Order: sequence, then structure tokens, then C-alpha cells
Amino acid sequence: MRLPDAVLACIKTLQKAGYQGYAVGGCVRDWLCGLTPKDYDVTTSATPAQVTALFPKVVPTGLQYGTVTVLFGEEPVEVTTFRAENGYSDGRRPDQVRLIDNLTEDLARRDLTINAMAFSPAAGLIDPFGGEKDVRRGIIRAVGDPTVRFEEDRLRILRAFRFAATLGYRLHPDTLKAALQKAEGLSSVSAERVTAELMRALTGSFPSRLRPLVESGGLLPWGIRPVSTLFALDFTSSQRAVRLAALCLLTGSDLEELGLRLRLDRRTYKEAAGLLLEVSQPIPTAEYQMRRRLCKAGPTLLSCALRLRGDLSSSDAPAAASAAQMMRRILRRGDPYRLEMLAVTGEDLIQAGLVPGPRIKRTLLELLDAVLENPGCNQKETLLCLVHARKNKESALR
Ligand code: ATP
Ligand code: MG
Repeated sequence: MRLPDAVLACIKTLQKAGYQGYAVGGCVRDWLCGLTPKDYDVTTSATPAQVTALFPKVVPTGLQYGTVTVLFGEEPVEVTTFRAENGYSDGRRPDQVRLIDNLTEDLARRDLTINAMAFSPAAGLIDPFGGEKDVRRGIIRAVGDPTVRFEEDRLRILRAFRFAATLGYRLHPDTLKAALQKAEGLSSVSAERVTAELMRALTGSFPSRLRPLVESGGLLPWGIRPVSTLFALDFTSSQRAVRLAALCLLTGSDLEELGLRLRLDRRTYKEAAGLLLEVSQPIPTAEYQMRRRLCKAGPTLLSCALRLRGDLSSSDAPAAASAAQMMRRILRRGDPYRLEMLAVTGEDLIQAGLVPGPRIKRTLLELLDAVLENPGCNQKETLLCLVHARKNKESALR
């Protein structure tokens, strides 16, 4: 494993001073999976006070958990003292954290075998729970007795499914059984943590790995209904809003309810809601229909909705594909579908004798309506003629 210079320097300094120091957890897992780790955590036998005495710049970032951040220039490295945890009376956080001097015990408190490995250039890979083998076989397995581990901390259930969904692994049968048995406890985990894990799982390459959890009703407290048909999720675009909309469509869940319970951010919620609305409309078969849809939804949302529709239903796929083709043709040709694309402006209308005020906007919208039906009439003269004709008709009626 090639460690970044700052991590390497950190481990070497610890070892020179007589302590143990290893890269641990996510970075070792990512390295074995062939992925680039996004950050590196260091675990050590030195206490936070001993770490602080060893390095010139140390920030106490999580002393209650034995964590300090060592700064190498701009580069931060999180260093955590080996620790054991006791008593999880709230089903989420340990009541007590105890600093220890034993690496194996530190690895034993970690959630999954693939996350319970350490590495240092001097010691090589330290893997007391068979994490490397599980990486090779694509298995998610709890460290120790899965029922006990999930009872201690319910969030681990979601983490297990999140790693399955991002890495494409499967839960080991015992881990799966315990996870589903304890899944009702997920309702007591904070919305923020559930949402963070769930969104990472949903936007992974294999979101359908969530199926057993969804099917068991484990996510019902979060507004996601139990069904067994998540397979199509894997084929949709991995954007948050798309996956969320697809999840709602596949499970028959209500986005509004889900959004409230999961406290979704406004932007993701609005994007998913827009998509769901668009997906519920008939697929345009004529160009004028397509221009009207472009006017309402815009090209980005519309193409996303058409793709989603095709991805989720093989019977809709041909119509959705030819509609998408039609949309590209219209855009290439430059057919007008927005007010700004009209060949006249409000200023032109005022110059042509219309009284400034709300009437101008109304007239522009009427012109856009005509142009959506027939883009050929999007010429200044033609449109002004149309305005005059309407004006004359109105005064004749008066
Ligand atoms: P990523 O950073 O990609 O989300 P990660 O595994 O590094 O994955 P972190 O939340 O950064 O996740 O946690 C670092 C390490 O701490 C994990 O690899 C795991 O060993 C341990 N860990 C994290 N959360 C838990 C938990 N709820 N229970 C037990 N151990 C945990
Ligand atoms: Mg991490």
C-alpha cells in the first residue's frame, strides 16, 4: 500500500518514539478494493497527550473519542488512540470510550471485517477478522456476533447495506439475517445519519443491493414502502434526484412524506419532485407537444425524465427513446420554446403601440403559444401582424 507522505511521516514518527502507528479502516479497505482512498485515518497506541507532545501542530478535534488532528503543513491527518467501547444504551453511541494499547481490540470494535484492517510499511497488513478474504469474495460481514453488533449501533445496519450498494458486495447470510432482525431499530437513528447513508447507498453503482432492507419494511419508518423490485434502479443515472425519484416510482413511496421524514435538502427534493411530475406526463409523440413540454420543463429535466421512464419500463422504452430523439432534433433546429427565444421583445410591442404594463407579458405569452404550435411564425413582422390583428379584433368587439 502506498501511503501519502504526510501519513507515512506520521506513522514513522510514532514508531520512532516507541509507539505503534497504522493506517486503518476505510483507507485500507479502499486500497484492497482497488479504489483511491479519499482520506486516511491513523490509529496508534500513543495517547492524545503523547501524540500532541510528538508533533509541532496538533488540533484536538475529538478528544472524547481519543482523536486529534496532526497538521503536516496544510495536510491534516486524523490520529486516534486505540480504543474500546462499552454499553450502547441508546442503540447508537457507546456510553463509555476506553483508551487501550491493543490494536486487535481496537479493530474488534469496528463494524465490518472489511473496515477492520490496519497497515503499516513495517508490519504489512494486519487483518485478524478475515477482511481481505471478504474483499476478495465480495462479502459484507460484521465483526463478531452480528446481532450484538447491530444491537449496539443500528447505524451499522445501514452502513452494511451502503457498502454492499457502493462496492457491489453481498451481505453474509448471518449478517443479513441479523441486520433484518434488528432493522426496526433504524427508526431511532437520527434522520441526518440515515439520510447520509441512504443517499450514499442510493447513488452507488448497485443500489438494488438495498432490496432485502426495503423488502423487509426496515425503511418504512423513513417513508420507503416494502417491495422487492429494485433491480431497475441500477440502470438509472446515479444522480441523487434521479435515484430518489426512481426509488419512489419503484416502491410506490410518496416523495413528500419521504422528504419530510428524511429531512431532504430542498434542492434534491425539488429536483426529484420535478422529475416525478414530468415522468407522470404522457410521452410526447408530436413536435408541438414536445415544444410545449420543453417550455414547461426545460431540456435537462425533460431528457432526464424520458431516460428514467425508458430505464424503468421496457414497454415505455421505445417511445421514450424516439421522444428523446425528437427533442434533440428540435433543439438542434433551434425551434423557440422560451419567451427569450421569441423574435419580438416587450420593447418591440411598446414601440408597436401597446400600453406598457401587465398586458405586455400576457401578449408575449400568447405569441409564445402560437410559436410553440408553429415555429415558422417566429419572425418579427409576422408576430407584430398577429398582435395588430388581435388588437383590431378586440377594438371591433368593444
Ligand atoms: P467512508 O469514509 O468511505 O464513509 P469509512 O469506513 O472510512 O468509509 P468512516 O465513517 O470514515 O467510514 O469510519 C472510519 C472507520 O471507523 C471505519 O472504517 C470503521 O472501521 C469505523 N467505524 C465507522 N463507523 C462505525 C460504526 N458505526 N461502528 C463501528 N465502527 C465504525
Ligand atoms: Mg473514512
